[in-house]
Amino acid sequence: MAELKPGRSPEPLIFELAKPGAATYRVSGTDESGRARPGAVPSLPNELLRADIDGFPELAELEVVRHFTRLSQLNYSIDTEMYPLGSCTMKYNPRVNEAVASQPGLAQLHPYAPLALQQGALALASKLEHALCEISGLDAVSLQPAAGAQGELTGMMIIRAHHRAAGRDPRTVLIPASAHGTNPASCTLAGYSSVEIAVGPSGVLTPEDLAPALSSDVAAVMITNPNTLGLFERHIVSICEAVHRAGALVYLDGANMNAIMGHTRPADWGVDVMHFNLHKTFSTPHGGGGPGSGPVAVRKDLARFLPVPVIACDGEQFRLDWERLDSIGKVTSFYGNFAMAVRAYAYISMLGAEGIAATSEAAVLNANYLQERLKDLLHLPYPGRCMHETVLNDERQHAAGIKTLDMAKRLLDYGFHPPTVYFPLIVAGAFMVEPTESEPLHRLDAFADAMAAIVAEATLDPELVHNAPHTTPVRRLDEARAARKPILRWTP
Ligand SMILES: *Cc1c(COP(=O)(O)O)cnc(C)c1O
Repeated sequence: MAELKPGRSPEPLIFELAKPGAATYRVSGTDESGRARPGAVPSLPNELLRADIDGFPELAELEVVRHFTRLSQLNYSIDTEMYPLGSCTMKYNPRVNEAVASQPGLAQLHPYAPLALQQGALALASKLEHALCEISGLDAVSLQPAAGAQGELTGMMIIRAHHRAAGRDPRTVLIPASAHGTNPASCTLAGYSSVEIAVGPSGVLTPEDLAPALSSDVAAVMITNPNTLGLFERHIVSICEAVHRAGALVYLDGANMNAIMGHTRPADWGVDVMHFNLHKTFSTPHGGGGPGSGPVAVRKDLARFLPVPVIACDGEQFRLDWERLDSIGKVTSFYGNFAMAVRAYAYISMLGAEGIAATSEAAVLNANYLQERLKDLLHLPYPGRCMHETVLNDERQHAAGIKTLDMAKRLLDYGFHPPTVYFPLIVAGAFMVEPTESEPLHRLDAFADAMAAIVAEATLDPELVHNAPHTTPVRRLDEARAARKPILRWTP
C-alpha cells in the first residue's frame, strides 16, 4: 500500500486515474470499445462511432469533473491573490470589461461582415484610438500590433520608413541598459543594429551618457520611461532635444504607462513614436489569460507610415482605408486583437480622465509603500522614490548563502506568487516587485510580512529557504532540465 500522508496528495495525470471500461456513458448497441455489438443497431450511425484511440483515458463523468476541478484549484490567479511581477503590470481585470467584450454584437462580429454591420465596432476602435492619443498627446494610433514587442517592431519600421522617405538610412538604434529585453530584439528584427548605453549610479539616462554615441548613423533612441528600475527618466526632455538635433527620432517603450498616465504625456517630452500595452496598463487579461495588444501612437507627420488598414471616417460612415501609399504594410491579421480593444475601451470609459490619473497615483503609492517595507529586508541598489515598481536584490542574504531564487521559491509556501527575478539584468540578483493599484493595503502588508518571515528564516534556518518550496504539489524544479529536456508525451 502506498504510504499514507496527511494533506493533499499531488493530482495524478488523467491517464493514471483512468481504467478501461470506466466511462459511464455508452451509445446503446455498442460494446466497451465503442463499436457496434454484433446484431445490435447502435443509436448513432456507424460513421459517427469513434474508432479506438490508443490509450484514450476512460473515466466516469464525476471523476473527470473532480480531476479538472482539483487541477483548477491548483491554479494561482489574480482572482485569488496578488501577482507582484515587476515589468508585467498584473492588475485586476474588472468584470465589466468581460461583460462588454462578450456582447454578442461585438464578440460574434465576423471580420468579413459587410462594412454597414461593422460600424459600431469601428466607432469603438476609433474612440479607443482617440483616447490613446489623448493619453499620449500623440496624433495618430494603430491598434493592430498584437503585443508590446510587435508594437516596438511596428514603431521601428515606421522610423525606418521616415528616414528612407527623407533619403537617409541610418543603421543604429541606441538603447539604455535599463531598457526592456524586447527592445534590442525588435531593433534587430527591423534590420537595425542596437548599441547599449550604460547608465550611471542614478539609474537614469543623462544627456551626457548619450552624447558620445549620437551620430548621423543613429536612427532612433529607444527609451523606456519609467525605466525597468522603476525610475522616471527625468532628463527625458533634454534627451529628446539632443536626439532630434542629431536627426534621429525618439521611440518610447510605453509598457510602463501605468505609472504616469493622466499626469504627463510622452508627446510633451518630445517622443515621436511609442507603443502601449493594453494587456498591462488597460487591464486586458494577460499571462496565459488572453492575447495581447500593443497599439502604436505617432506624431502627425509619421501617420502616413502607419500599418494598413487605417480606420477612416467619411462624415458619419466608418471604413477601413487600404489606399495608403507610404504605409509600412500589414502587421497582423484583420484589425489586431479587437476584443482587447473592447476591454481597454470599457476600462478607459469606466475610469474617465480622473480615474486614469487616480489609477497611476495609486500604482505609484502602492509600489512606494512596498519599497519602504521591503528596503529594511532586502538591499535597495537605487534608493529614492520609485514609480510603479521597485527593484531590490539579495546582497544582504549572501552571507547566509541565500539567493533571490530561494526567497522567491519560499514565497510559494506563504501562498504568494513570486515577483520577477533576475531582471533587469543591470541589478545582480534582482527581486522586482510591481504591486499595481489593484492591491489593498492588507495584501501589501501580507506580502511584506511574508518577506519579513523569509528574510528571518534566511539567517535562522537557511536550509529551509534553500530547499523551498515545501508545500506545493511539485517541489524545486530543475528548471534548466525542464526547458532543455521537456517531457511532452505521456507513455503508458
Ligand atoms: C512587457 C514589456 C514589453 C513587452 O510587451 P509584450 O506585450 O510582452 O511583448 C516591452 N517593454 C516593457 C518595458 C515591458 O514591460
